[in-house]
This record gives sequence, structure tokens and C-alpha cells, in this order.
Amino acid sequence: ALIGLGYLAYGIYEDRHPVDQKPPDPSKKTLVVLGSGWGSVSLLKKIDTENYNVVVISPRNFFLFTPLLPSCTTGTIEHRSIMEPLRNILRHKTASVTFYEAECTKVDPVNRVLTLRDNSEIKGDIAETSLPFDYLVIGVGAQNTTFGIPGVQENACFLKEIADAQKIRTRIMDCIETATFKDQTDEERKRLLHMVVVGGGPTGVEFAGELQDFFEEDLRKWVPEIADDFHVSLVEALPNVLPMFSKQLISYTEKTFKDEKINIHTKTMVKKVDEKTIFAEVTKPDGTKDMIEMPYGLLVWATGNAARPVVRDLMSKIPAQAKSRRGLEVNDYLVVNGTEGIWALGDCAATKYAPTAQVATQQGQYLARLFNTMAKTQALEEDIAHLEELGHATASPDDKKALATEIEAKAKALRRTKRLMPFQYTHQGSLAYIGSDKAIADLTFGDGNNLTSSGQMTYLFWRSAYVSMCFSTRNKLLVIMDWLKVKMFGRDVSR
Ligand code: NAD
Repeated sequence: ALIGLGYLAYGIYEDRHPVDQKPPDPSKKTLVVLGSGWGSVSLLKKIDTENYNVVVISPRNFFLFTPLLPSCTTGTIEHRSIMEPLRNILRHKTASVTFYEAECTKVDPVNRVLTLRDNSEIKGDIAETSLPFDYLVIGVGAQNTTFGIPGVQENACFLKEIADAQKIRTRIMDCIETATFKDQTDEERKRLLHMVVVGGGPTGVEFAGELQDFFEEDLRKWVPEIADDFHVSLVEALPNVLPMFSKQLISYTEKTFKDEKINIHTKTMVKKVDEKTIFAEVTKPDGTKDMIEMPYGLLVWATGNAARPVVRDLMSKIPAQAKSRRGLEVNDYLVVNGTEGIWALGDCAATKYAPTAQVATQQGQYLARLFNTMAKTQALEEDIAHLEELGHATASPDDKKALATEIEAKAKALRRTKRLMPFQYTHQGSLAYIGSDKAIADLTFGDGNNLTSSGQMTYLFWRSAYVSMCFSTRNKLLVIMDWLKVKMFGRDVSR
């Protein structure tokens, strides 16, 4: 307990106290990092900023702990508990890093210059400018895909950013208040209380579980008049939900959802959406297809990722990227194919791995090692050149011998440093919350040994794993306090 307390106290102290930093050094190579998500932030955490003039660009000045975002939609977790100001992260580096809150709208890979736009509501005299770079790391993530399905963009809520979670939280209560309005018709009440989630990946499943919890644990008690008509439905085009998990965990999730009274509509592909109705094509057991209509009050769209406009624009400028659809194709060292000195990581890079936080984190750590190594290599090369010059200048045989020994040692160190391996991903497993205090886990140990587990103990593991992964001691404490608050007082049912 004492060690725990000591660790906590140190964490709090460290969070509060910025270090004395060296100023940025414009004579060094400028390394621009785009984004403040999992990939970019794990790179920034590990990189030695003294070796470069580091500039970070992101339209959001914080890191968001996305695994707990579904919990924000129902107020189980308050949004500020999972946000970490980027400045808190950057103020702990030994050499200072420049940050601009802006969106990078264009990358010119030939002239090596970026176009930046200030997207904040308050506009200064300069809203757009350019920034040259020597090295560039693109970690801008992805946007929600709608597959161009009509009506989705206009009518659905998404679940990627804090603002999305806040919008969903307001919409849930809006639907409930309108459904219980005086003299509301039965049909309209049923529609407004039908909460539909499209996409049976982890995002859709976790959100559906959280929403059903909100209903069972709080809404049912405080708004009893909705008890019979409030329903959560999960719509998935494939024959089952969570295709990345094992068969056993898929069946467990589907059974738990049945017990929780969440309707799962598999083999149901949404084709069109309007303000009040979802139109979907159902594949029946005999293989024939049927169109169905689903009236809804809230629609949450979670069907995966698409490339952002800045990434698509860059891809169109590089012939080697012509065939890529999902994002920037990279080589084994994460260099964007067809470019020099431009790397991509996380959801904006098209690799053989799923676009997860785990992959992005490991890619960020890898790139930090790569940049630290590049700097070390350059320093050693410069040292060797300098020693060789001294060797030529001196006439003394003893000095020549000593210098030769030193050069040999440096050359050996240089050979060791240059041996950087290509990026390799180590999958540690997948976790997902499925509602009613249950979670599923597909864990990988050692040489690819697998362990699957599900239920309430797994939920405790899920909680402890996520708390330990939270960015700062402050985040960890806030998340634990949010869970305690909900245990003691329930969730807030105000709008
Ligand atoms: P996803 O790509 O994993 O799942 C989207 C689902 O939507 C697919 O199963 C697809 O069949 C379905 N779909 C697509 N179009 C449809 C339509 N028109 N009608 C009905 N269904 C349709 O998306 P996600 O859940 O947003 O996840 C994105 C990535 O993030 C994945 O790699 C995922 O593994 C990762 N992620 C992981 C976790 C976790 O591990 N807990 C949580 C969230 C996200």
C-alpha cells in the first residue's frame, strides 16, 4: 500500500510540475508531427526532442483516451476524465516542442511544405499559413465511413470524438423527453425510444451495452413511463457481430445481448436512412433478400474508418499510392511509399494490421526509436569525420594510433546503431465491454498462446487494464472517481 501511495504521490507531483526545457533549436532538422492521437502521442512520449526542432500540429489540443469514449455517451465517464492536454505531455520533454492547434489541409511532398488552417471559432488575422518541414510524421487518424449511403451523414450520430459522445448524450435525453411529451402518440413514442446502432464491430457493441446499462440502471427508475418502449437494436451486415473475436466470445456476446434484451439484427445491411426511418436489406436463411423499415429516434453509425481528405489529397499526388484505397501505403519502416522522409502511422496508414490503438501505439514507439537512432547515427558519423580530420592533421604516430582506436570504437557503435529492424507488431489481445458488468477478452501470451475469457471477472480485468492505460495519474483518478460516483449516485438524467 505504501509503495502504491508513493507511486500516486510521485505521479501527482510529476503531472503538476513542468520541467526546465531547452528552447527549440531551429538550426536542427524540423520534424513535424501531425495529429495528437495514439500514434503521434506515443511517438512524442518516447522521442528525444533535443535532436530535432519538433513541431506538432493537431486540430485538437488534447489526447483522447478513446477506449472509454462509449462510456461518455451515457455519463458513466465524464469527458474531461479521458482528455489529457497536449501541453501537459509536451511540457515534460527535455527540449521544448512547438504546438499549433490547426488542421493540416495539404501536404506538398515535393517542396516539403504543409498548409495549415486555424479551425477554431475565433479567427485572428491569420487563419491559414504554411510550414516547411525536413521530416514529417502523419498520424492524422481516419474519419467515419458512411459508404456514401444516402441520409447517413445528415441523420446519424458518430462516435469518434468527444463532441460526438456529447451529442449522443443530449440526443438520448431529447428522445426521452419528446417521447413523454403530453399527448404524444403511441407510434411516435415507440419510434423515439428506438435506439439503433449500425455496425457490430467493437464500437457498436460497446455503445449498445453502455446504453442498455443506462436504461436498466437509471432511466427505467427515473422515467418509468418509458420502460415498455425503450429498445436498443444492433444492426450488422455480416452473419455475426465482432468478427475479430473468437467464435466462443461471439456466441457469449450474442447470448448476453439477448439476456440484456438488446435486439441483434445480423445479415442486415442498411441501404438508406431518412430523418425517422432506416431502410435495410435482410438476407433470409434461404438466401433471398427482403427490404425492411425500422423507425428510430437515435441512430449511431459505427461502420469503421475511411481516409481523411488531407490523406486522400496526398495520395493523389504520389503515383505509388494510386492503388491504395484504405490510406497511405507504407514500407516495413513506416515510410510512405513513393516519398522520402515522410512516415505514416495509426489509422491513416494502410497496413496489414487492424486500425487499433494498440497498433498505433507500437508504431509511435517504433518511430521514436527510429528518430533517436537517426540522430545518434548522425552524431557518430560527424564524430568520426572530425577524428579523421585530426588524424590527417597530426604528425605524431602515438596520436594517430590513439585516434585510430577511437575511430574504430565509434565505427563499431555506428554499425550497431544502424541495425534498426523493420516494424513488427506484437498483438497483446483485444478487450471489449458488452454491458451488464460483463466484458470479453481475447489475450495473447508469449509465442502466440491464446486465452479467452468473459464475464464479470473479465470486466474487472477490463477496468483495471483501462485505468492502467489512462494517460496520466490525473486521468486515472478521475476515471476511478467517475465509476465510484455512478455506483453511489447513479447516472445523471438531465440533458
Ligand atoms: P469495424 O470496422 O470493426 O466494424 C464495422 C462493422 O459494420 C462491420 O462488422 C461491418 O460489417 C458493419 N457494416 C458496415 N456497413 C454496414 C451497413 N451498411 N449496414 C450494417 N452493417 C454494416 O468498426 P469499429 O467498431 O468502428 O472499429 C474500428 C476499428 O477500431 C477496428 O479495427 C476495431 O478493432 C477497433 N476498435 C477496437 C476496440 C476494442 O478493441 N475494444 C474498440 C473500438 C474500436
